[in-house]
Amino acid sequence: MFSKAFERIFKGRQPAYANNNTRESCVCGQIRRNIANNIFQVTNKETDLIYPKYYYKCRRCGSFSAVNIYFPQDKYEDNFQHLSVDDLKRRLAASRVEWLKSHAEIADDAIIFDLGAGEGAFAHALAEAFPRSQVYAVEADERIGGKFYGQDPRVTFVPGFIDAFLNKQDRPSADLIILTDVLEHLIWPEEVLDQIVTALSPRGLLYMTTPNARTFENDAPFPLPVRPSQVDWPHANRTCQHIFMIEPSLLSHLVSGRLDIVAETDEFETSIRRDSVYSTILGRKR
Ligand SMILES: [Zn+2]
Repeated sequence: MFSKAFERIFKGRQPAYANNNTRESCVCGQIRRNIANNIFQVTNKETDLIYPKYYYKCRRCGSFSAVNIYFPQDKYEDNFQHLSVDDLKRRLAASRVEWLKSHAEIADDAIIFDLGAGEGAFAHALAEAFPRSQVYAVEADERIGGKFYGQDPRVTFVPGFIDAFLNKQDRPSADLIILTDVLEHLIWPEEVLDQIVTALSPRGLLYMTTPNARTFENDAPFPLPVRPSQVDWPHANRTCQHIFMIEPSLLSHLVSGRLDIVAETDEFETSIRRDSVYSTILGRKR
């Protein structure tokens, strides 16, 4: 039994997004057109559970986006069940601190926002590295506070959405903002980048890392284009772990339009984590 909307999708005559869609454009600004006939399938077994299996590919910039651009609330519950701080996360947090110190001067008393902090491994590593810093660990799911890694009194757990925190009138300005593994989940990544620029103090820094569209090049010849009739549409419309997998050059462009780029690499996080190709960008407020 399929709804009228799904019948249209299966025939490939209408854009393949359901009622929950809230955005029609790619991050490059191009309107997503003829979605049903621009679907690419990712078949890597390891990534099937994490990513959408089907993506729309933008013909202008090459970025991939979820068929249906929205983020179902219950996805947070999925993530919540699997949270833990393992050796890899500890090692990653320590490596990020070293990388940051080697590329920029950061004051011991820096105000730091870790946006989308998860269970707080990086937030605590930063508090330890900068001994008079104040770290605000912002995380959408307030239950994570109960699972929070470490008890440093200079790390403040802030439950709630990133944009709600950034829009608060009474928050301080940040000397360093951390945005790791967040951009790919946002419906409007450009708007959050704008809010981050506003929240930074003069010469403040952004450390950003996100899996990019080159992740799929390692799975060559995938992702493959698929015909509308071959797409599992209920799955395609539902699975929204990663909303955007952006082309690295477009990511650079998104940041350089707002901040001076201090350093940029697709090797640093990729070599440690090995499950995606990650763009890492350090930007400084002009
Ligand atoms: Zn695009």
